[in-house]
Amino acid sequence: MDYNYLADLLFPEITELPADVEAKYPPRQLPEGAKVTRFAPSPTGFVHFGGLFPSTVGERLAHQSGGVFYLRIEDTDAKREVEGAAEALIKTLAKYGICFDEGAILDENGKICDQGAYGPYKQSLRGPLYQVYAKQLVREGKAYPCFTTEEELDELQAVNKKEEIKNTDWQAEAAARRAEMLARREFTIEEVEEHLKSGHPFVLRILANGDPEKKIKFTDLVKGTLEIPENDEDFVLLKSDGIPTYHFAHAVDDHLMGTTHVIRGEEWLPSLAKHIQLFSYLGFKLPKYMHIAQIMRIDENGNKKKLSKRDMGANMDDYTSMGYCPEAVCEYVMTLLNSNYEEWHMQNKDKPYTDFPFNIKKMSISGCLFDFAKLNDVSKNVISRMTAEDVYVQSSEWAKEYDRELYNVMTKNPEYTKSIFSIGRGGKNPRKDIALWSDVRGYIDLFFDEFFKVADEYAEKFSKNDIKLALEEFVKGFDISDDSNVWFEKIKDIADMLGYASDMKAYKLNPEAYKGNVSDISMFIRIAVTGKLNSPDMYSVMQILGYETVVKRINKMINTL
Ligand code: GLU
Repeated sequence: MDYNYLADLLFPEITELPADVEAKYPPRQLPEGAKVTRFAPSPTGFVHFGGLFPSTVGERLAHQSGGVFYLRIEDTDAKREVEGAAEALIKTLAKYGICFDEGAILDENGKICDQGAYGPYKQSLRGPLYQVYAKQLVREGKAYPCFTTEEELDELQAVNKKEEIKNTDWQAEAAARRAEMLARREFTIEEVEEHLKSGHPFVLRILANGDPEKKIKFTDLVKGTLEIPENDEDFVLLKSDGIPTYHFAHAVDDHLMGTTHVIRGEEWLPSLAKHIQLFSYLGFKLPKYMHIAQIMRIDENGNKKKLSKRDMGANMDDYTSMGYCPEAVCEYVMTLLNSNYEEWHMQNKDKPYTDFPFNIKKMSISGCLFDFAKLNDVSKNVISRMTAEDVYVQSSEWAKEYDRELYNVMTKNPEYTKSIFSIGRGGKNPRKDIALWSDVRGYIDLFFDEFFKVADEYAEKFSKNDIKLALEEFVKGFDISDDSNVWFEKIKDIADMLGYASDMKAYKLNPEAYKGNVSDISMFIRIAVTGKLNSPDMYSVMQILGYETVVKRINKMINTL
C-alpha cells in the first residue's frame, strides 16, 4: 500500500512534518540534572487528596533540582469535563504550596491562560500537533484507520461484554479478538476512499508489533525493575473526532514539552507497554517514570481499601471546610510520601517542609495509609509552632466563612483573642490544643461570656461545703496583680486550711491523712472560672479574663452550691 497516499487521504489539511514541529519546541536549556515535571489532571471535578501526591512529588523534584514544573490540562474528554474545574484546581493546589512555573495559569480575571514557550498547555488546543505525528505514523505504516462508526463500536463493545460473561474459554476469546484485530488491518485504498467520500469517521489505531510472550525490562523509579509483556494491541491513537487518546497525547505532549520525569498514579502501570511502544514508534526518548502507589484507608471492618472519591478526606475542599490549615496537610503528605520525613522533621523542627531533601528512594512502593488521627497529630504540632498572630489570622479567616458567630465574637477585640492564643505558646513544649480551626471555638469559648457555660461538674465525692469555702477564700484573697507564685501560695494556704495537702510529696506518703490535695482545690476554682475540668494554665486564664469576670464567675458558682 502507498502509505504516503493514505496519509494524505486521511489528513489532507496537515502540511507540517514532525521536523517542523520539533523546530518550534527546541530542547530546554537547563542545568545538568534539572528535572522537568508536570501535573496533568483532567478537569473532571474536585481535587482529590490522591492528586496532591503526584503534584507534590513533581513540584519538589523540579524545584529541588532547579528544573521546571508545569501544569497541563488534559481536557480531551469533553463529556466528562466540568465547567470551572480547571480554574478551581489551580486555586486549590496553590493553597497547598503547589505553584507552577509554566503551563496553564490563571489570568487576572481568574480565567485559564498559557504561560511558557511549550504550549498550548490545554490538550484541546493542541489538535493539529497530534495530527502531524499521527500522519507521520501512517506514512511509516505504523498506524492505520479503522472506519467503524462510534455507534457500531458501542454495539460491538456491548456484545463483547455480554460474551465476556458467558464465555469462560479465555483462549478462544483471545483468539477471536486477535482475528478481529487482524481483520481490521486488512483494507484497500479504494475502501478508504469510499468511506471518506461517504463521510464516515475513523479512529486511528497503532499497528502493534509487540509479542506478549516477550518481556520488556523496565525500571520505574518508585516500583523498581519490572518485567512487562510487550504490547500487541492495536490501541486507538486518535478518536473519531480527531481527539487523541491519553496514550497518544501523553507521548506527544511529554516529548514536546521536554518532560524528564513522568509522575503519575500506578493505575497507569498496565498501559506502560503501550507507551514504551509509542515512544519508540515516534522516535522519542522515553522519559523516566514514577508510578505512585494508591492511597489506602482502613474501612469499618478493619480492611485496607482504596481511598475512593466518595470517602471523607478525598475532596480537598473538605479540608478547608473542616478547618485544616494547608501547612498541616502538606506536612502530612510529606510524612506519607517519604518514610524519613518525620525523622528529618524531628531534627529540623523550625524548618519548613520545603527544606526537606525529598528522596525518591524513600517513597512507598505499595501504598500509603490515610489516617485522620495521624493528620490531626501533625496538624496540632504545626499549629503549636505558629505565632498567636498567625493562629488568629488563619482561624478568624476560617470562622468568617464557616462559623460566623465565632468570627463575630473573636474579632470584636483582636488583641484580647490573640492573648488567648498566646497562652503556652513559644516555649520548648508549646500547648497542642488545636488540630482544626473548628477546634478554636471549644478552646476559646471560656474567655467569652457569650459562650461561657459550666460544662463539667464537681465529682460527688467532694464536700459541697469544702468547695464553697475554698471558693469564698479564693475570692477574698484574689489580687489580679499577684505573680503566679504568690497566686499559687494562696491556693496552697486554702488547701492547708481545709485539710487538703498543699505538699504533694507529703500527700503521696500518707494520702489517708488528708481529704485530698492542692490540685483538688485548684480544680474547684477551675470549674467555677473556666467551666471545665481541663483548661489552659489557670493563672494565665485569670490574667486574661480580668478581676471582675473571675470574681463574678466564682460568686455565681458559690450561689449554686
Ligand atoms: N490525565 C491523567 C490523569 O488524570 C494524567 C496522568 C499523567 O500524569 O500522565 O490520570
